[in-house]
Formats: sequence, structure tokens, C-alpha cells
Amino acid sequence: MAEASPPSNENKPKSAPQRALEKLGLVRDIDFALHLPLRYEDETKRVPIASLRDGDVAQVEGVVTDSRVQFRPRRQLVVKIHDSADDLVLRFLNFYPSHQKALAEGARVRVRGEARGGFFGLEMVHPAFKAVDEATPLARALTPVYPTTAQLPQAYLRKVVASGLSRADLSEQLPPGSVPAGMMSLRDALDFLHHPAPDVSIETLEDHSHPAWQRLKFEELLAQQLSQLKAKQERERQRAPAFALQAGGLQEKLLAALPFSLTEAQRRVVEEIARDLARETPMHRLLQGDVGSGKTVVAALAAAVAIQQGWQCALMAPTEILAEQHLRKLVGWLAPLGITVAWLTGSRKGKGRREMLAQVASGEAALVVGTHAVIQDQVEFARLGLAIIDEQHRFGVQQRLALRSKLQQSTNGRGAAEGPLEPHTLMMSATPIPRTLAMTLFADLDISTIDELPPGRTPVVTKLFADDKRDAVVARIRDEVALGRQVYWVCPLIEESETLDLQNATATHQQLCEALPGQMIGLLHGRMPAAEKAAVMSLFTSGQMGVLVSTTVIEVGVDVPNASLMVIEHAERFGLSQLHQLRGRVGRGAVASVCVLLYTPPLSETAKSRLKAMMDTNDGFEIARRDLDIRGPGEFFGARQSGAPLLRFADLALDEPLVHQARASALALLAKHPQAAERHVTRWLGSKTDYLKA
Ligand code: ADP
Ligand code: MG
Repeated sequence: MAEASPPSNENKPKSAPQRALEKLGLVRDIDFALHLPLRYEDETKRVPIASLRDGDVAQVEGVVTDSRVQFRPRRQLVVKIHDSADDLVLRFLNFYPSHQKALAEGARVRVRGEARGGFFGLEMVHPAFKAVDEATPLARALTPVYPTTAQLPQAYLRKVVASGLSRADLSEQLPPGSVPAGMMSLRDALDFLHHPAPDVSIETLEDHSHPAWQRLKFEELLAQQLSQLKAKQERERQRAPAFALQAGGLQEKLLAALPFSLTEAQRRVVEEIARDLARETPMHRLLQGDVGSGKTVVAALAAAVAIQQGWQCALMAPTEILAEQHLRKLVGWLAPLGITVAWLTGSRKGKGRREMLAQVASGEAALVVGTHAVIQDQVEFARLGLAIIDEQHRFGVQQRLALRSKLQQSTNGRGAAEGPLEPHTLMMSATPIPRTLAMTLFADLDISTIDELPPGRTPVVTKLFADDKRDAVVARIRDEVALGRQVYWVCPLIEESETLDLQNATATHQQLCEALPGQMIGLLHGRMPAAEKAAVMSLFTSGQMGVLVSTTVIEVGVDVPNASLMVIEHAERFGLSQLHQLRGRVGRGAVASVCVLLYTPPLSETAKSRLKAMMDTNDGFEIARRDLDIRGPGEFFGARQSGAPLLRFADLALDEPLVHQARASALALLAKHPQAAERHVTRWLGSKTDYLKA
């Protein structure tokens, strides 16, 4: 315990229990106080043996009248106890000499377990027991059972938690009015949850609906809101180049040159972004919009604003295929306006690469498109004003951290008079964050949402078939291709085995080649060299190739409006948001499109609910909500990786009202009682506050 031990002890070897406690995050007194029971055992009551019924979990007390080791049917300790009226048999299949000693004839024991009808009447197998005398009082509160690890016995954990709880400073730190009316105090709530009175409904404790739990969840959500809002305030103290929108400037020219007009939603988000860019604080905005909602053109319009002012813009995508597609689109839109676009990926080497790097360093390239190669060490920007990151959650943690530090260096010292400038950042995602998550884990992001698809799209029809209907599906492909349309066939990524993965895709490719003679059928997988991938992709994009068999490399962002059929093999192996992303590859033109989900029974319950969600809705927000339900917030959106600590107590699916209350309190606290806010964050997050900012 940090408070108990002086810092000089830190280099001393730690005892095994101490290490185990640290593993559980138990260091400060307050950490122990906040280590809450998973469930409870009731040792507050004692019933007569005569009242036991088969299946009862209960506590009885009696004197041992017989204790012996039996050898048949297997070695076991069999003990008989007697209360004033009846006998009960206790059976221990694993036992130590200490058991035999404690359960010797004449000993008085209190025993708790499940009564089962045995051959000789009721018995308990492996009950908990302890030696008592007639005066030993019953427990006055329910006995807590704590989350633990193998090295920590419950009895020890109960002791250290109880002492942490008694020592911890749990005084009310929040000023009146910042806790919702009628909530229990933190001290009362914790005392209660660690040692609940026996008359409480155990259910409301275990499902966290009890008022004591409400207080804990509120506190936790408040700490989380506060730390996120503080991160946001810090960001607002940083400075960025301000890009005022210019009448008759590049953005206007680009708008005029587009072959379509923006949807209402696109217009709105373009304005939101322009407002951010015009400020002197760095933008930190997430642009979310369902697949096909037209985020790329919004990115281009944002880039145009920065470029107009003589700054550079970088656009990064998680895969080379996706980056290349952006490149093609952006070059098509921006080159006619006289803008030089550079292209940087890992596979680009040698002279071509050196030339690109020189263009980026000199500022000649106003827009740089690529994969994470854009943020590698050798890349120097003349002056980067805006970074756009597509499908940002697909970048790994390392890449995101690298990006952050790259961004900090890459305004190249401009604005040095008032301290360094930070570029603006715009992140894009087709996986909308459900509202509660947006308000909690991502509270320091501003969010723009495109909630409308471009006109003239026909919603994709989704069909579910067991794998034995494969032939019918192949026939459907034949029809589709005969009409001049194009087809994707996606095979699952088999994580454990890239080889199997490939075999699967190769076999399907072979099968389709045989079934559709005379058709050009492509194969695309992760292990192909980038140039080969690009070649296949361009045959498909140009319409020469009718069918593309692929592992999940096509997952994000590929845009071929003429594709009208998407077949997903082993759909049961895909995550829900992945399925939705894949489905979004079709239905991008005016033709009616179909997504066929092929599955191989039997289906697990979660696979069933994923496929059902796909059948029920095309709406990315609804899909995201269901995904959150199915997977829980921990896995959603890679939140676990993002460094944001997961909520231990609050459940975002159930506690939305509390999230709103915590949000309102956090805003008020920061405005009026910043010191109380600081104390609260420290109490709850302790040393973790730093890494929250990453
Ligand atoms: P996503 O949001 O999934 O990244 P894209 O930016 O790839 O979507 O856009 C999907 C397709 O829709 C592209 O072909 C794009 O050019 C087209 N598009 C975008 N906005 C509009 C619009 N307002 N009207 C018509 N087509 C549009
Ligand atoms: Mg996209």
C-alpha cells in the first residue's frame, strides 16, 4: 500500500501476495476500498438440519459425531454432524490432515453448502466450514466474495480490503449539487457494498441496480468525464494555424467541379469542419458516416481549405489498396485545380520515393496520400496544416502514437513566437460510435455525422443461406455477370493460419473459375505483393474483371459502383461491424444490390445474433448499437487498445441516464470547482491519469 510504505521501500523485493495485489491494481487504500465484491455468501443465518431440503444452500451448525476416511468408491473423508435433533453427512473428496483435525469427533462446526439428497439422507459435498463454540456470533453482514487471482485466498483479500476500507479517506469531496439528489454518500455506499445488511435483495447487489451501486457508477463516470474534458481543455490551449475560408478559393472551385452536388448532411459537416479550421486551436474531430455516405469528398473539401492557405495536408489510410483508391479520387478532383499530390506507401522504394520525399519536404506537394508510411521518420513536411486519418481505429496503437509525435514536429516551427503550432486533425470512420460511447470513452472528440446517403442508391437486400445452397449462389453470380455487373466473393481471414486462409480463398477461386468459364475472375489476398494486388484491383475497378475473390483485404473503403453482389463465405466468422462494412461495398450505384451471407451450421448464439442484426437492418448506427450489445464496450472500436481505461462498474448499455448526469456534473465542476474536480480524478484514477492523455 503506497500510503503505508515509504518510497524507499520501492526497491525491496515484494512479497508474493503484494505482487498479486498490485496485479489487481490494489496499491492505495482507496484502491482497496474500490475493490468491490463480485457476489456474496450469506453466513448471517443458521437453520436446523431438520429444515434442510434437497437443493437448499444454507448454513447449519453441529457437533461431529463421526469422522472417517472411506476408500470406496474412492478415497474421501466422511464426517457426520449432529445438531440437537438431526444428522447431516459431509463429504470431502479432496482433503488434508488439517481437515481431519478440524473435523475430529467432538468438534463443533458451522457448515455452509448445498444440501443434496444422498444415499443415506441429506449430505453436503465440500461445504465451507469453520470451528466455533456455542457463543460464536453469526455474521452480521453478508460475506463478500472478491474478484481475485490464484495466489490470493478470499480470507486474506477480505482482511486487506476491510483494512483499506477503514483507512481510506472517503470524505465527501464533491460540492453540494454536483451529486444527483438523493444519492447515498460514497462512504455509506462502500460500507454497504463491502458488508451489506442481511435483509438486502442480493439480486440488486449482484446486478448492480442497488442505490449503493448507483453512487459508485456515478463516481466512476464522473472521473472519466472529468479526465476527458480536461484533455480537451488542454488541447484547446494549444495553437494551430487558422485557415479562413476564402470566397472564390479552392474549396469553392472544387465544389463547382464535382460531378454531383453535396447531400444536406455533407454540406453540414463541411461547414462544421471549416469552422474548426478557421480557429486558432487545433481541430480534433471525428467524421463518422455509414459506408458509402461520401466521406472522401468531405476530406477533399477540408484539404482544399488548408491548401488554399499555402499549407500541406496529409491523408492516411490503413491499407495500401484503400490509400490508392483515395489517391485516384483525389488526384481526379484536385489535379485539375493545379494541386500536386504525392503518394507514399511502404512498398514505394528507390528513386520514386526519394522524389516524393523531396516534394513533401519542399512543400511542392500540397497533398500527401498514403499508408502509415506517411508518418515514418524520413518523411519531413514543409508545413503540415491538416492531417486526415481514414478508418482511424484500424491503425494500431503504435502507429497512432507515432502519428501524434509526427504531427507535433511537422508544422516545422511555424508560429514559434507564440509557441509551436499543431496541425488540425480530422479522423474518419464508417463505424459510428454509439452515443453513450461517444459521450464517455471519446468525450474529448468533436463529432460530425453524415446521416444520409447520396441520392439514387437502392438499399442492399441481405440474404442468408446455409453453405449447401452454394450452387444456387454461383448461378446467381452467373446471372449478375451476364448483365454486365460485378461481384465480390469474400473469404474469411483465418487468424491462426494464413495458409488455411489462402487455401480457402484459392479453392473458392478455382471453383468459380470452373463454374463460370470464359469469365475473368480475380484473386486477392494479404500475402500478394502490393503491385500484384494493385493490378488485380485495377482490373476490377475498371470493370474488365467480373468477379473478385478475396480475403478481407477489400474490407474498407473500396468503391466500385458497378458491383451489385457481395457474397460473404463463412459469414458466421466475421464480426458484425466487419460484415456491415463488407456489405457497404455494394449498393454504391443505382442498381439494386444483394448481399449473400453464406454460413456453415451449427451457429453459436453470438453468431446468430450477428447474422440476425444483418438481416434486420442496413443502418450503420443500429448495427453499431447491436454490436455494442453483443460484444460489450471493451472490445468495441478497439477501445481496449486506445489506452482509455475501461469502466469497471458502469455499464454503458444500461447506465445512459447516469452518463448524462455525470457529464452535466463534470462540466459544472470544471467551471466552478476545478480543485474538487482534480481531487476526484486523483481519487478514482490515481496514477493512471497520465496515460489517459495518450
Ligand atoms: P465512404 O463514406 O464510405 O468513404 P465514399 O467517399 O467512398 O464513401 O463515397 C461513396 C461514393 O459516393 C463515391 O463514388 C463518391 O464519389 C460518391 N458520392 C459522394 N458524395 C456524393 C453525392 N453527394 N452525390 C452522389 N455521389 C456521391
Ligand atoms: Mg471511405
